Amino acid sequence: MSYETVIGLEVHLQLKTATKAFCGCSTTFGRKPNSQTCPVCLGFPGSMPVLNEEAFLFAVKVALALNCKIQDLIKFDRKNYYYPDLPKNFQISQYDMPLSYSGFLDIFGRDNTKKRIEIKRVHLEEDAGKLIHQGCDNSSLVDFNRSGMPLLEIVTEPDIDSPQDAYAYLIKLKSILEYLKVSDCDMEKGSLRCDANISVRKSGERNLGTKVELKNMNTFKGVRVALEYEVKRQISLVESKENVAQETRLWDAQKEVTISMRSKEEAEDYRYFPEPDLVPFVVDKSVIEKIRQSLPELPEAKSLRLVKEFGISEYDAGVLTSQQELADYFEACAKLYPDRKVIANWMMGDIMSQLNLRNISINELRLFPDGLAGLLKMVDTGIISGKMAKSVLAEAIETGFGPEELVKKKALSQISDAAKIEEIMKVVLEREAKTVKDYKLGKKTAFTFLVGQIMKETKGRANPAIVNELLKKRLEQ
Ligand SMILES: [Zn+2]
Repeated sequence: MSYETVIGLEVHLQLKTATKAFCGCSTTFGRKPNSQTCPVCLGFPGSMPVLNEEAFLFAVKVALALNCKIQDLIKFDRKNYYYPDLPKNFQISQYDMPLSYSGFLDIFGRDNTKKRIEIKRVHLEEDAGKLIHQGCDNSSLVDFNRSGMPLLEIVTEPDIDSPQDAYAYLIKLKSILEYLKVSDCDMEKGSLRCDANISVRKSGERNLGTKVELKNMNTFKGVRVALEYEVKRQISLVESKENVAQETRLWDAQKEVTISMRSKEEAEDYRYFPEPDLVPFVVDKSVIEKIRQSLPELPEAKSLRLVKEFGISEYDAGVLTSQQELADYFEACAKLYPDRKVIANWMMGDIMSQLNLRNISINELRLFPDGLAGLLKMVDTGIISGKMAKSVLAEAIETGFGPEELVKKKALSQISDAAKIEEIMKVVLEREAKTVKDYKLGKKTAFTFLVGQIMKETKGRANPAIVNELLKKRLEQ
């Protein structure tokens, strides 16, 4: 029996505004607990929320970048529930008239075909406080600095049919969000969080299976592995004719299992009703258009342009535009060096591996575009070999010196002078007289050995093409 998987994702994104969503408290991360609070975000009776304009503009930016329609009349609602980190017993959110709806995001799915993931809605809400379970005597502490921070909820339709595609969607979404510069998108700090809904059904069946909500995945890889686990768990329940319970399950990253947390609430359980302190409002079309015009060139458009303008492959363009800073670096190099495929190869090879090795971003790299262009030009003109260029690149990144400066300083330059090479060759051939004899008797591998000996003698600095040419000439005399 084969099964289909149905996944929907809910991403929560903390917006990088200076102040909270409905009050003037600061949003700076890591301050002393409860030092950034006021009657509004603590939920004192009679305090009145005021919508933060910056948060609203950021939200519209994201909605437009995800191809959503902006609602004509926008309304905030109260989502009622009790939790110790939510002192007013409700969260200001959006229910039936969210900021935006009906968007989409195109991804390259698991079989490398383009897939469109429909986005149901992007809405604005406020974050709750944070419980810290490390008080004395097993008590918990609560920090309200996060209470009232602006959060975007980005919800897909149950449109994703595999954990791999869920992963591809999250990577693409994060890349777009980073381009927009509306959030630091840092999963470790909790500014980007993802929950997933997942169900399975027998292939061809029309009704959806019972869905389970997954929480507590702290990395995108964690989302993928948790979903993979859950697909197996649900299929085995169905196979053994047991019920899949509708519930919320927590991912335990250590044990790599999901654990039942609570039965899942339905929207009705929250008793949504309109937030009486924030009136519904209409946004002028011209304001929306202005925000649309201000959107940066997004990864997909940039990727297409790089392919067209610089002739690099679609794959390379996809990797280079996954981060705006990488694409900027590439374009800066492309202005200084004519062979763009070579630039792409170096960036995706040696430079990326240096970034990974050092766990830094390209902005922190101590090799600037002019340095890389200079290095590539030295290879072209034969001043250094390709192999030498690799070690110069690593040293430039390590020391912060420019590649040209390093080559000059260490007299690293390649020996291309024929007379000098002949001189070294003479010494080597005298020493290796037996190998020369073997070569003349027909042992062709002896040639490679002799080239190797000459390269060794020059510490790898001889121009290999010239060595080959001269050695051939000499042995054939
Ligand atoms: Zn406040």
